[in-house]
Amino acid sequence: MYRINPPGVYAHESAMTEPRLRARVERVAAALAPPRVPVVFTDEQLPELIWEGRWTEGLKPMGTLPEVRDPVLVFSTFRFDGKEAERGAWFDQLGTGIGGHLRNALVGGGAFHWFPAGLKEDPYRKEKVCRACWRLHFQVGCLHRCAYCGYGGVLVTMVNVEEYIEHLDRLIERHPWQLTYLLEDDADVLCLEPELGCLGPIIEYFGTLKDRYLIIHTKSANVEWMLPLKHNGNTILVWSLSGPEQSRTLEPKTGTLEERVEAARLCQEAGYTVRYKFKPILPITGWREDGARAVATALTRTRPDVISLCTFMWMECAEMVRRVGRDRFDPHFLAAAEAAADTIGGLRTAPFPEDARAEMYEHYLTEIRRWNETVPVSLSTESPSMWRRFEDRLGMNAANYVCGCGPQSTPWLRQLPCSAWQGVERNDQGLRGTW
Ligand code: SF4
Repeated sequence: MYRINPPGVYAHESAMTEPRLRARVERVAAALAPPRVPVVFTDEQLPELIWEGRWTEGLKPMGTLPEVRDPVLVFSTFRFDGKEAERGAWFDQLGTGIGGHLRNALVGGGAFHWFPAGLKEDPYRKEKVCRACWRLHFQVGCLHRCAYCGYGGVLVTMVNVEEYIEHLDRLIERHPWQLTYLLEDDADVLCLEPELGCLGPIIEYFGTLKDRYLIIHTKSANVEWMLPLKHNGNTILVWSLSGPEQSRTLEPKTGTLEERVEAARLCQEAGYTVRYKFKPILPITGWREDGARAVATALTRTRPDVISLCTFMWMECAEMVRRVGRDRFDPHFLAAAEAAADTIGGLRTAPFPEDARAEMYEHYLTEIRRWNETVPVSLSTESPSMWRRFEDRLGMNAANYVCGCGPQSTPWLRQLPCSAWQGVERNDQGLRGTW
């Protein structure tokens, strides 16, 4: 696992009762630098610890902090007792300033999240194209310190993986239309392994299934421990890649470009399916050369089954500048984002206007085709109009594209056989851990 020195190390009492769970906590705590003994806490003690330990200080976009430290480390369990909402309501009235997925994890919930992208209940379905599915969670928080990201500050990891897998098994059985399951978009789950000992059992569980796949999304190079696992070809690893300059300056604790690609090569050799997302494509000074290097490094050393492209999105221009720093940008793209702020600010695809995003995609597509003429390339969380603009060139459209973490994007598929929303139905009545 990574060498880290968290400002505080805590374990919920539920993580310390069973010897198997406790051993996971103790292995990680012993591998910290220096080794630590976790503070064991109950639900009632949690708010005091949050206030005393100033947990919320690091819960800001990391590029906006004067100093970024390793996150507070919290071990806990999913409780699967049907009382997550009750505990959540109790937690909310305390006013700790912690919400969202981190709050869910701190009250022992949030294992399986229904993500309704593109369905009627998705308020953003006209702004971005993505796929409805269940998403898996096991951790919240990250060690990588990406400047544009807010997942530093606190890292909660669950430790009761055997119980988690039992509930996951029921969820999978109820959703025959969902073929792949993404773990995780709130954390990078490779960082505490193999000491944590939770990801291996999840990979090997998927290895026992027929035509169901685990997708792990990462920027880490910590893979050697997973090479001998019995994955049975049912785990797909997706690396987000960026050029060497972006990774060095803005993603300081991730694997470098070279390290991520070497990790992908090792996994490919060990029989895992390997994919890439060039994400987020940030038009920093020299981004064309940076991107070309990333593409060449990846495609001369490995054979991904699919590639997705995604420019920097999800926020207003001023907020992006606050996180990344004005001086880092290619002036042409910064000017385009600033000029568009009044018209596209607030859209999911902001801050860059469509023409600027298309220019970035054009560049990456050209570079990809230089090295690989056939790998499917799709757009990630792009607008319907961007899809119309690129569909002929990509040979796929908004309804049938394959991508890095789509629920029907099984290994080496070149196009979905039907619309991504055909047959999609939520069916979790009576199951535990869903939200
Ligand atoms: S790797 Fe992902 S989750 Fe981790 S800090 Fe970077 S952007 Fe955030």
